[in-house]
Amino acid sequence: MEQVARKKDYVAIVLFAVFTVATIIGVPAFAYSHGFSRVDWAMFAVLYMASGLGITVGYHRLISHRSFECRNWVKVCFLIVGGWAMENSALRWCSDHIRHHARCDQEEDPYNALKGFWYSHCVWIFHKSPYREEKWESKLRKDPLIMWQHRYYIPIVLSGLALPFIVGVWSGGWMGGLSCFLLAGVCRIFLVLNSTFCINSICHIWGSQPHGQNDSSRDSWWISLVTFGEGYHNYHHTHLRDYRNGPKWYNFDPSKWLIYTLWKLGLASNLQRYQA
Ligand SMILES: [Zn+2]
Ligand SMILES: [Zn+2]
Repeated sequence: MEQVARKKDYVAIVLFAVFTVATIIGVPAFAYSHGFSRVDWAMFAVLYMASGLGITVGYHRLISHRSFECRNWVKVCFLIVGGWAMENSALRWCSDHIRHHARCDQEEDPYNALKGFWYSHCVWIFHKSPYREEKWESKLRKDPLIMWQHRYYIPIVLSGLALPFIVGVWSGGWMGGLSCFLLAGVCRIFLVLNSTFCINSICHIWGSQPHGQNDSSRDSWWISLVTFGEGYHNYHHTHLRDYRNGPKWYNFDPSKWLIYTLWKLGLASNLQRYQA
């Protein structure tokens, strides 16, 4: 397919640059001069898990792949904490992701791994894709909760940054607010972003292909340790709708454990499983 010109996305470029510099320079400098409190680290852990699982369980397995169903209020929770990861609204993220699976390794693939590590890791977000077409999001647009989240995406992102700031001010004054904002807001967003990026880059370059060789997807179990179980990417590309990415009981896949727990509690249903 012929390459179509891509316009730069300056908002994404500036935001990514600010969060990268603040995390790589600002966080160590602040740790050296002031140090972070237990409240900062606790908020960091809670928000890292909430926003990370919001992406893997909410955006990815629930909305993009419909690998289970859940109550509306549970879906709203996933849409809010997933929005806190600042990875775009679910409407944009999931339509991009549906296109990734449908056009894997082709020009239309938003994070085409054949263009190299850095492109599939983060450079792809610096351009507005000319392939964001209506057909990839038409089903998503029928869901009023997804459209609600899309409309209020910016206030949702800001609430995810305001929360650590407010908790920090409450526990340690203005300086406490700044340190909690820096660690559990800015640094946490940067790390969750890169954890998601690793699936598109590393899991399409390094690892094994025990389940199929139709595309560049790979199983990298060690990536599962930092991506809530999404490192078993070759299995996922082969059995798209399975609610598990690591199908064996010993595979480290906290996202499947959360979905299974929700099912046990009566909050999720219709869990999809590939039966060999
Ligand atoms: Zn997927
Ligand atoms: Zn993939």
